[in-house]
Amino acid sequence: MSGNISLSEEGMMKISRICGGCTACCKTHAIAELQKPEGTVCSHCTVGTGCRIYASRPKSCRTFQCAWLMGFGLSEYRPDMTGIVPDFQQTAKFGLVLCLWETNEDALSTAFAIRQTRLNFELGKPVLHVPILGTPKFYLPRGKRRSDGSIILDGTKVKLVEVVEFVEGRF
Ligand code: SF4
Ligand code: SF4
Repeated sequence: MSGNISLSEEGMMKISRICGGCTACCKTHAIAELQKPEGTVCSHCTVGTGCRIYASRPKSCRTFQCAWLMGFGLSEYRPDMTGIVPDFQQTAKFGLVLCLWETNEDALSTAFAIRQTRLNFELGKPVLHVPILGTPKFYLPRGKRRSDGSIILDGTKVKLVEVVEFVEGRF
C-alpha cells in the first residue's frame, strides 16, 4: 500500500475506511447550505465524536469524501491525526490538484505536509495549501508557469489564491 497521498496509479487503490472520531472537515471546509465558512468548526459538530444532525446533514456533507477516506495514504494519516484534510479538486488548467486544508495552525509546515507536497511535485502536479490563517497558496511544480494567474477550483469556495512558482529546495 502506498503511504503517500498522490495521484499515482498505486495511490488509487481502494481501501474501505470510515471517519470514526474524525471531524476535521467539519472545520476546514465551507458548507454553503449552512453558510458555514472555511476554517470554523460547524455549530452542529461535536469535535472528536461526530455530527449532531447526522441524519439530516446537508448534501455537501453527505457527498464529501477526503482523500484519506477514499483510501489515499496510510491509515495513521487520518486527518485529525495529521492536522491536514487532503482532497482533490478539478482545475481547468491543471487537472486534478491535491489540496491540503489545515485544521491546526502550522500543520502545513509539518514533515507530513511537506512530504505530500514534494511527492505530488515529482508527479508534475500542483498542490494547494489552505492555511487556517492567511491566503491559500497554489504551488506549481517544476516546469509549470502561471499564465494569466487565474485558478479555478470547481469543487471549493477558495477563490483568492497566491500562485507560487517552483523554487528549488522549497519542498
Ligand atoms: S476529514 Fe475525512 S475522515 Fe475526517 S471526517 Fe472528513 S471525510 Fe471523514
Ligand atoms: S452538518 Fe454535520 S457533517 Fe456537516 S459540517 Fe456540520 S457537523 Fe459536519
